[in-house]
Amino acid sequence: ALMITDECINCDVCEPECPNGAISAGDEIYVIDPDLCTECVGHYDEPQCQQVCPVDCIPLDPERRESRDELMAKYERLSAT
Ligand code: SF4
Ligand code: SF4
Repeated sequence: ALMITDECINCDVCEPECPNGAISAGDEIYVIDPDLCTECVGHYDEPQCQQVCPVDCIPLDPERRESRDELMAKYERLSAT
């Protein structure tokens, strides 16, 4: 999963781009629900939020490293619901 750092300027550009609805406005900055973020696997070749963020504040979450297979399995779980 990806994460949003405190560099976020709350511009709201990323939220509508997420195919999994994983991004929302948090108390202070935007946040990604790691259980919903597939790093866009299953939908796009590149993480869409990273493509649009004007301040590049959406890195990989070091606490939530997942293989492509794990991300694809998450995508399939989310698609089934
Ligand atoms: Fe959503 Fe893709 Fe960004 Fe994850 S990488 S938060 S799935 S847009
Ligand atoms: Fe924050 Fe970047 Fe999303 Fe804008 S695009 S709300 S700066 S994470």
